[in-house]
Amino acid sequence: MKRVLIGATAVLVLVVAIVLVRTALVAAPPPLAVSAPPIGINSMDVARHLAAAIRFKTISYGNSAHEAEKNAQLDALRNWMEQTYPAFHRVATREIIGKSLLFTWKGKDAHAKPILLMAHMDVVPVVPGTAKDWSHDPFSGDIADGFVWGRGAIDDKGCLIALLDAAERLAESGFTPERTIMFAFGQDEEVGGSEGNANMAKVLAARHVHFAWVLDEGGAILNEPFPGVQQPVAFIAVAEKGYLTLQLVAHGTGGHSSRPTSDLAIARLSDAVRKVVDHPFASSIDDVQREQFSTLAPYMPFFQRMILANLWLTGPIVSNMLEKNPETAAMMHTTIAPTMISGGIKDNVLPPQATATINFRLHQRDTIESVIEHVRKAIDDPRVDVRALTETQSEASKVSDLHDGNGAFIVHAVRESFNGIPVAPTVTTGATDSRHYMAIADDVYRLDPFHMDPDDMSRIHGTNERLAISDIGPAVGFYMRLMQTAK
Ligand SMILES: [Zn+2]
Repeated sequence: MKRVLIGATAVLVLVVAIVLVRTALVAAPPPLAVSAPPIGINSMDVARHLAAAIRFKTISYGNSAHEAEKNAQLDALRNWMEQTYPAFHRVATREIIGKSLLFTWKGKDAHAKPILLMAHMDVVPVVPGTAKDWSHDPFSGDIADGFVWGRGAIDDKGCLIALLDAAERLAESGFTPERTIMFAFGQDEEVGGSEGNANMAKVLAARHVHFAWVLDEGGAILNEPFPGVQQPVAFIAVAEKGYLTLQLVAHGTGGHSSRPTSDLAIARLSDAVRKVVDHPFASSIDDVQREQFSTLAPYMPFFQRMILANLWLTGPIVSNMLEKNPETAAMMHTTIAPTMISGGIKDNVLPPQATATINFRLHQRDTIESVIEHVRKAIDDPRVDVRALTETQSEASKVSDLHDGNGAFIVHAVRESFNGIPVAPTVTTGATDSRHYMAIADDVYRLDPFHMDPDDMSRIHGTNERLAISDIGPAVGFYMRLMQTAK
């Protein structure tokens, strides 16, 4: 007995020693000394451009609603861009594809793979009934209290204007890029991008264009990335989740409700939905999260640092914590979201069929095929059809690297432009237009080069969307740096 006790104590001491050593090894934050002097930009000039762009109501309602008005606004925005950015329009060739814009700024090196910088011109509508909650009219483009206010200020006219201002300044100065730089400005990102970037990508694929890298919206610079971390961290999305919507169609015997059989379509459908929800997909901390934790750990207080530095021991606890928050849980697995249900036409008529719609966001470890298979197995009922809505589906993207080549280059540009901040990888749980270029690019990255407080996230697609004027100049500087140093 005594020997067992001594043995157990020895193991415990060893575990504690390993935990402390591993914690000590991450203790020193890496130096933040790579920052180059900021590129001088008058943020107010750019803020006025953003304000003007917000006033064009380029709203994507979906289902082609108000299409003519939107198209007129897109035409007006395009004309405004032509007048506002004359030097850029002189050096770059513009192609109008649908209502989307593809610019090509030829580089000196004709053999180097081109790069693609992206932003979308459309915005989501203001949720009906919430316009009164805005402290400035959503399409006023008001500049007040240090912000540019309005729908699209962050998503995604902020990026659009910062890109255009960056290119205009460089074009004015007589700069020619080393590599060819292309710009894709989509018309319908908020409703899937099928008219805009899907078509532009097809045109480019037919021309055998292949990009070294693509940069789109997606990640952000978070001021408080984690409880206890005081240091802003840039999160570059190195991947995005896939998208799949399935319709479950349950069949039954129709007829008068006074004589029901046990073959009930609605009961069968509700069983099927329940079974799908009760069969979650595999979930765990993946490589992107591990890398994110190892970037953040040095900035964390001792206790959190100890937890993250010892995932070999604490992994299950951390997984459990992440699973409790819908936002972090969504990073760990394919999500299941029943979104619509219908069946029946009258209170005394048994419907012969009933339909439920379930939306899935695919983790990298799953494919469209494996998700459909998983759902069929879970339901295990030949009287329930499983149909995929193929127009909107997309596989989970590949994961791009931040350590070597293109990724290291972008990380360096971020650190130089934003005071040497740490850069961590993330995965976007929503879809971006960059997915259309997945097959014709070596790497795809996603970043909104703006600082965001926790409450800014709810402004995107929400109420009181705004962008700080103090963020505009550095964003232009960041894009300028990318264009100047992409060799
Ligand atoms: Zn967006």
